Amino acid sequence: MQLTSRFVCMAIRDPKSGSGSGRGLHGITPTNSNTRISATRLPRLQDRPSIVPVSENLGLNSERLRAAMVQRLHDQGITDQRILAAMQMVPRHAFVDEALASRAYDDAALPIGHGQTISQPWVVARMISAVCESTLPNRVLEVGTGCGYQAAVMSQVFNQVYSIERIRALYDIAREHLRALHLTKVRLSFGDGMAGFPTAAPYDAIIVAAAGIRIPQALLDQLSIGGILIAPEGTSAQRLVKVHRTSESSWERFELEAVRFVPLKAGLQN
Ligand code: SAH
Repeated sequence: MQLTSRFVCMAIRDPKSGSGSGRGLHGITPTNSNTRISATRLPRLQDRPSIVPVSENLGLNSERLRAAMVQRLHDQGITDQRILAAMQMVPRHAFVDEALASRAYDDAALPIGHGQTISQPWVVARMISAVCESTLPNRVLEVGTGCGYQAAVMSQVFNQVYSIERIRALYDIAREHLRALHLTKVRLSFGDGMAGFPTAAPYDAIIVAAAGIRIPQALLDQLSIGGILIAPEGTSAQRLVKVHRTSESSWERFELEAVRFVPLKAGLQN
């Protein structure tokens, strides 16, 4: 189902910081995690969303704010038009608390409660483009649904999208967000994604939105042969890692950008 831009979000306030909840592992906070760590140039002044007036009704301006976000992503090397179109389509402000809606199109991760974050737009676009480089995957699994934003973007690019979340409250929130946007083709599951989601395996691609010390073997095993997985790996120092399954028993590994993500955790939080 295609999204339209009829989603409206009122009540704009601009709190200067996140909720502060979830401060913890190795300096990860809701406002600095699920982001790229790099010395990339600051956006040119004319790219900054802050110059686009944020009125009392973000709904009316959100398309322009998204267009500025998409332009920035393009300037930062995201060139796949399918992904840029999907990022233009999905209203990111509908996935964050109303109090943070005015910052929804900044190139930043934002807190979503329970010590978790919505990923930085660049991270979302980079991870999706990394699995689309040779062929377009059909069946894709996301580990770490969070508020459902990345799953929504994925649903505009891939045919079959599965996403699994270990925190019950976030799973419920994501389900509400996706339902409100009529994105019913995304199949959400409440569970420990470290074990993957065997019911629908194998996957042409797996995108992991939280960082483990190592990529769980269960996820590598649920890739189809020829499939691609992308995941952040490490604790204090993390990198995006891309893995290509080349045969029943072999996987090729490539290291990409330095990043900082919230931790991949075992078990469920009810
Ligand atoms: N996909 C998100 C980012 C979510 S943040 C987006 O749309 O921006 C990472 C999420 O991974 C958190 O919600 C966290 O609870 C979840 N997570 C961590 N470990 C997990 C696990 N073992 N299984 C499933 N989800 C996990």
